[in-house]
Amino acid sequence: MSDYYDVLGVSRDASAEDIKRAYRKLARKLHPDVTDDPEAGDRFKEVSQAYETLSNPDKRAAYDRGGSVPGAAGGFGAGFGFSDIMDAFFGQGGAGRGAGPASRTQRGQDALIRVDVDLAEAAFGGERSIQVDTAVLCPTCKGTCCQPGTSPETCDICHGQGSVQRVVRSLLGQVMTTAPCPTCHGFGTVLPSPCLECSGEGRVRARRPLTIRIPAGVDTGTRIQLASQGEVGPAGGPPGDLYVEIHERPHPVFHRSGDDLLCTLQVPMTAAALGATIPLETLDGEVDVDVRPGAQAGETVTLKQRGAEHLRAQGRGDLLVTLEVTTPRDLDDEQEELLRRLAELRGEVRPAGKLSPAHQGVFSKLRDRFSGR
Ligand SMILES: [Zn+2]
Ligand SMILES: [Zn+2]
Repeated sequence: MSDYYDVLGVSRDASAEDIKRAYRKLARKLHPDVTDDPEAGDRFKEVSQAYETLSNPDKRAAYDRGGSVPGAAGGFGAGFGFSDIMDAFFGQGGAGRGAGPASRTQRGQDALIRVDVDLAEAAFGGERSIQVDTAVLCPTCKGTCCQPGTSPETCDICHGQGSVQRVVRSLLGQVMTTAPCPTCHGFGTVLPSPCLECSGEGRVRARRPLTIRIPAGVDTGTRIQLASQGEVGPAGGPPGDLYVEIHERPHPVFHRSGDDLLCTLQVPMTAAALGATIPLETLDGEVDVDVRPGAQAGETVTLKQRGAEHLRAQGRGDLLVTLEVTTPRDLDDEQEELLRRLAELRGEVRPAGKLSPAHQGVFSKLRDRFSGR
């Protein structure tokens, strides 16, 4: 039989902590579930036997004296829990061993709500009053979970430990494991008279009004974190956070592309031909759009810094105004006469059938713009 200290790779005067650390390291490497090495299984058993002995002060003393170590050859004895292996893989408290009773008081969960906002609110920010369905501190017991005048009592079954030991069969043979006490659910205490309002939860469901600030520049999918505005935890535990997810409603006129705003401005044919300054009502005030003489349908005029504000930087996106040239209808006699005269002067009474190159027409430009190409 190999020397247990050699098996674990520790010196004979190693501390309990050193032994534990060495065992964990080896168990993580040698456990049959994590390695394909055919010899790992035997090594793992050896390592586990060594640890079982050296981790127990009495057994270690007996081993050091050269005496026989009861139970050393046959699987795991008392005092060596499955949770030691779980600990090796999952860190402290893998199966709750040694963790003591759980606290009833726990942090509340984070919550996520969706808020629909208009384009202007998203682009320039604002304030919103919303209703949040959440859990709040129970007004009757104030989180103690007990009827007024009563208090939790130590659990008879686990004597306040919160856990019970039992033997289970596993791939490692019969092992002792600890499980949360079924009577007190691991809390170590029971409630002789649970609060009637919250059924012993320490919190109740409620609808709570909340005013939230929408930062300028948010977009669909942006999440705003509101610290401690989530639900109150069990037994009046500290509240979680509330996340507000923005959903931007489509606007009938303006379209958004990142922090740029897009719109289409109708320009009368004459204004497009002669050039004009056309007022445009934006989401935040009026601007003048300068249409150059001879402007074509589908052309875009860029108004710098008239788009949505940047969420995480100074400044704003641009406003991109696409021109839609409108053809005059319902001409009166005089207007018709003028246009016929113009057509004659320009030689356009019977215009030549000129084709535009494919992919450069007005419609493909519009399509490209709205599909973000
Ligand atoms: Zn209550
Ligand atoms: Zn119990």
